[in-house]
Amino acid sequence: MRLAGKRAVVTGSNSGIGLGIARELARAGASVVINSFTDTDEDHALAAEIAAETGAEIRYIQADMSDPEACRALISQAGGCDILVNNAGIQHVARIDEFPGEKWDAILAINLSSAFHTSAAALPGMYDKGWGRVINIASAHGLTASPYKSAYVAAKHGIVGLSKVTALEAAGKGVTCNAICPGYVLTPIVEKQIPDQMQTHGMDRETVIKEVMLARQPSGEFATVEQVGGTAVFLCSDAAAQITGTTISVDGGWTAL
Ligand code: NAD
Repeated sequence: MRLAGKRAVVTGSNSGIGLGIARELARAGASVVINSFTDTDEDHALAAEIAAETGAEIRYIQADMSDPEACRALISQAGGCDILVNNAGIQHVARIDEFPGEKWDAILAINLSSAFHTSAAALPGMYDKGWGRVINIASAHGLTASPYKSAYVAAKHGIVGLSKVTALEAAGKGVTCNAICPGYVLTPIVEKQIPDQMQTHGMDRETVIKEVMLARQPSGEFATVEQVGGTAVFLCSDAAAQITGTTISVDGGWTAL
């Protein structure tokens, strides 16, 4: 197995893209820590299900990525990691003059600052081993903007910048850092935006998906969690050892427009 002997931590991975990445890393042979801020029977059952499905060692560790201490504790409870995927993220859509300050703070904390804290905790162990991969899940919104998503766009541009700095500091140590920039992937975070968009645009569900959400995705299709997960596995491969400090778009052509 390509990633046998490697331990991965994927933040925000009891759902959506994080779960897809955890599954693909486990299929490639890595042991994986899955995480969210909850601690339910379903969370632990999910870990058992992926372990049974892939034969990999899977642990669930609860940690709230809005809390800097919890971010660092996640890495120490995992026993360090060879592969760190900073994926946890939330969204809120509103005009800047109506954007609640507490939503701005929460988005910046979960979508950006958590990656700083987990990276700070994980990098020294990677440097000691002379091998590591930090993969930050940014977005097409890390490279372009849309109205009403000020905090999200700011956090995602921020994580692209953090990825570049991490790559420069890690260069020559066997450790790479890159940002994956997905376009629209039909996960719960996107599903939750559909009713708001229907209301804002006065459209039905299918029209909002086709004419609003996928209007900027030239392929006309959602990207899938398996495709984002496969990209993460590729970034962990030897073929990607010299790919660092950059972004990889999985966006159906969005950022080529
Ligand atoms: P999702 O809502 O399905 O998953 C978000 C995950 O983050 C969940 O597992 C949730 O439990 C976790 N999370 C939320 N708050 C947390 C906290 N305080 N502590 C720990 N975990 C927390 O959404 P998704 O679409 O899978 O999004 C995952 C990442 O991908 C996000 O960073 C998002 O910005 C990014 N992304 C998504 C899309 C898309 O179209 N779905 C596109 C580009 C980027």
